[in-house]
Formats: sequence, C-alpha cells, structure tokens
Amino acid sequence: MAVARKVVVIGTGPGGAGAAALLQAKGMQVTLLEKNPFIGGKCWSFEKEGFLVDSGVHMFSMGDSGQHGDINRRVGGDLEWLVADPGEHLLMGGVAFMNLYQSLFDPRIVLGNLGAIAKVALNRRKVKEKVLRERQLKALERECYRASKRYGPLEALRLAAGIARRDESLLAELDEITFQEFMHRFTDEIGAMQGMFALAMLLTVTPAHLVSAGEYLWCFANAFHKKTLGVPRGGSREIPGSFVRAFLRNGGALRTSCEVKRIVVEGERARGVETAEGEVIEADTVVSNAGIKRTVELAGEDNFPSEYVEYVKGLRQSYSFITCKYGLERRVVNLPAPSFFNIPNVDPDHMFDYIDEGGVPEDPFLFTPMPSEWDPYAAPPGKQLIIMGVPGPIEVTPENVEQCERILDRAEERLFEIFPQIKEHIQWKMRTHIAHTARITGKPTGECIGLMQCVGQTGARRPSPRTPVKGLWLVGADAGARGVGTEMASGSALYLSNLID
Ligand SMILES: Cc1cc2nc3c(=O)[nH]c(=O)nc-3n(C[C@H](O)[C@H](O)[C@H](O)COP(=O)(O)OP(=O)(O)OC[C@H]3O[C@@H](n4cnc5c(N)ncnc54)[C@H](O)[C@@H]3O)c2cc1C
Repeated sequence: MAVARKVVVIGTGPGGAGAAALLQAKGMQVTLLEKNPFIGGKCWSFEKEGFLVDSGVHMFSMGDSGQHGDINRRVGGDLEWLVADPGEHLLMGGVAFMNLYQSLFDPRIVLGNLGAIAKVALNRRKVKEKVLRERQLKALERECYRASKRYGPLEALRLAAGIARRDESLLAELDEITFQEFMHRFTDEIGAMQGMFALAMLLTVTPAHLVSAGEYLWCFANAFHKKTLGVPRGGSREIPGSFVRAFLRNGGALRTSCEVKRIVVEGERARGVETAEGEVIEADTVVSNAGIKRTVELAGEDNFPSEYVEYVKGLRQSYSFITCKYGLERRVVNLPAPSFFNIPNVDPDHMFDYIDEGGVPEDPFLFTPMPSEWDPYAAPPGKQLIIMGVPGPIEVTPENVEQCERILDRAEERLFEIFPQIKEHIQWKMRTHIAHTARITGKPTGECIGLMQCVGQTGARRPSPRTPVKGLWLVGADAGARGVGTEMASGSALYLSNLID
C-alpha cells in the first residue's frame, strides 16, 4: 500500500485552511499549524457583547460562486451564503444616494436612480471645473498626452467584454498598464472615474495609479458576472472555519498556538518545520501561508538563489483598510442595501494621495458593511452592527499609527455627518488598524490583502506557489492567483492543490 504524502501547512488564513482541506481530501496526511489561538488569519471574527464582529471589514465579491464556494464544495464544507440585491448603497458626489445591484445590466441601476443621476451630473460640472483648473497647473503636459490617447467608450466596452470572457492574452496586455492609464484612454468623465477608482481601492486595496488594469478588470467583471456578492452566515470566520471543519472530518490534524520558527531545509529540500517550542515535525512537503517574504526568512535566505531573494525583497504590499466598529443599541440606519459607500467627491487621480503624504482625506472613501443587515444573528435582537473601513498606510511606525487615528477621526466625522443618528446610539465602539492586522499576521506591516496587485505583480507575474526550494510551496494571497483578497487566497489554494500530487 502506498504511504500517504506527509504535508505540513503553516497558517490558517483562507489560503492555508483551504490548501490543508483540499490536500487532506486528496488523501494526503496533513498537519495544519497556526501561531494564533484562533484560526482564520485576517479573515477572522470575534464576539463582543453579543455582536459577531469582523476582525477587519469584509464582503465577498463572488460569494458561493467564487473560489470559496469551489473549495467548500470540493471538501464537503458547510458554508452558507447570504446575498442581497441591491448589495450596495452609494453616496455619489456628496449629493445623491444610489443603489448598486448584483448585475450591471439590471435596469433598476438606471431606472431606480434617475433622480440621483441627474443630481450627480449637475454637481459633477462644479467638481470638474475645480479639478481641471488644478490639473492645468499640476500636470498639463501629462493630461494632454492622456487626452491624445482617448479612444472612446466603445473600446472600453469591448475590453470589458473580453475580460468577462476571460481572454487571457488581453488580460496579460492589460496587466502591463495601470487602471488609471486605461481609464484615461477613453474617458475624462470625473464621476465615472471617482466611482471606478474608489471601487479599485475596495477590490484590490491599491490606488488606480498603481493597480494593474488587467487584475482590477478581472475582479470587477467577475463580481458583476457572478451576481453573488455576499457574506457567509456566521461571519467571515466561517470561510476558514468551514474549510478547517471539513479538514478535521477528513482526518487532518490541527494545532493552534503553534508558531513555526524555522522551515527545515536539508540537501536543497524542505524536510519539515521546527516550532517555537523546538519540536521538529518532519514532512515531505511544506506549504506556507505566512506570506512570501516571511517564508523566505523562515526557510533561510541562504537556501534560495540570490536573484529570488532580491526579487522577493522588491515585492510591494497592498495598502491597508483601517476600521471603526459600532455596536448600536438599536437599529438606526435603514438603507435599501446592507452596505454603504461614500464615494469621495475629489479629483479621482489624487483620491488616495493623502496616504503616502501622511495626511487625512478631504472626503474619505467609506466602505461600510452593516453585518446585522445581512445576517440578523450578527447583533442581539433589535440592535445593529456597523463596520466602517477607510484606506490607510501599512508600515507599523509611530507616525503611521498616529496618522491612522487622524484618518479615522476624519472618517468618523464624515460618517456622522451622513448618519447623525449613529452617534446617539453607540453601545460600544472600537478601532482596529495596522497594528492590529500586523499582530494577527505576525508581520511588521498591516497590509490588507498581501502582495499589492500592481503592474508587475499580477497575472503571470504574480509569484508562483512553487519556490526554488524543492518541497516548499506558497499558498495565500501572495501566490499564483487573481481576485479579491480572501478569494485570491482561496484561488491560490485551488491552484496549489492541482500542482501537488
Ligand atoms: C481590514 C481588512 C479588510 C479586508 N477586507 C476584505 C474584503 O472585504 N474582502 C476580501 O475578500 N478580503 C478582504 N481583506 C483581505 C483578506 O482578509 C486577506 O487577503 C486574506 O485573509 C489573506 O489570506 P491568506 O490566506 O493569504 O492569509 P492570512 O489571512 O494573512 O493568514 C496567514 C496565517 O498564517 C499564520 N502564520 C503566519 N506565520 C506563521 C508561523 N510562523 N507559524 C504559524 N502560523 C503562522 C498567521 O497567524 C495567519 O493565521 C481584508 C483584510 C483586512 C485586514
């Protein structure tokens, strides 16, 4: 009888938990190690005064039809999804509310929002004049160059349709330009750019002047194509939770509060791991969900070719989302959709410049899911849970931590301007930002996604799950897949499970 391959998986983020469940279901003998006392990595939730609180601020762009659903079905998981239509309620240009439906072709997007569209168009003229004046001074040359390259909206539609059909060669070309460049090729419509650049930040946590057009359009097209934007019943933690439960049912071994301090490499091959307690766990295959940079440290730089080490050091991380969470003593925000977005009414090309400038946003982008509107069990009866996320920096330095507080002050001010009733009914509130995210992952940075989805780091140029050390593999948002945060991590697990036999 063949002996089952022995695998150690380091980390229980959606990528690690998914990989462990998939490999165990393939008949391998998998040990899953997690340094925290809880599972799930950044996709985790906890309970507070009867509320089920997301450790970050999550929504899932493809719900059951995406990569999480694929893993769940393959491993016999028990995930259930909650989907709402409309799924999102937007404040556009500071003047009009609009609903966003699951399908971009839903006639209600135009018919139900006629009044709002007219208001936004009127208001946009004022913003456009201001923006154009500023741009004339700032970047006349660049704007003229861009204007000369405009092709018209039909070209954009052709490209977007190509994306939806998953034309890999078209995607590969689009991976080489930023989304900002792509948009400027066919439009100078300020409102469209405000909406699309804010959505790029939401889906990839990367500003439009950095995000690869191919990657963002893939995420955007798939979200609207699948029409299942949603959240799992029981909170974000149920995604890795369902994978781990299936893993345990299939005979896998899980150890929490078990930090790996070294990946053992001998004879150019991964042989197992050593824990912080000094225990060596032998394995034929080591799969790391600790992020590519940390994985190279754990295995020792000397075990990799120097070009690989330099390449890994040069990779950039995504920006962060920092949050304020409110447990409300009663349900005070009643919107047609279970999530709310404030689309900043500012020059779209400079919407997120404040992050690197150490400043605060003039009009912050607010990503505000209301978990108890999706899932009534996320709050005690009659109460409401609201989580507000806003983009921020990533390095955990005293200056950045202080900047996060200032950004959250400004974001709260804006949220209370829009919904003054929230302030009156707060039972508890808490902030989480980069220091909190860094504590979960054990990294010195608090990035939201993992590696940034910028030009040069997406598609064929995303790091491969295969490393130069034999028997050592990467899984998670850093390796091998496309998509939105957790979904990219699960996509990576699906890819990896096809590579390892
Ligand atoms: C505030 C915030 C908002 C977000 N919003 C969304 C959203 O709306 N939608 C979305 O899809 N995604 C969102 N994300 C991103 C998403 O959470 C991440 O992209 C995803 O969780 C990454 O998964 P991963 O599998 O790569 O691993 P991670 O979640 O990073 O988990 C890695 C795991 O490895 C463990 N580990 C690391 N080192 C060791 C070691 N040495 N020994 C043992 N264990 C170790 C860690 O403890 C951790 O559990 C958000 C993230 C944040 C922080």
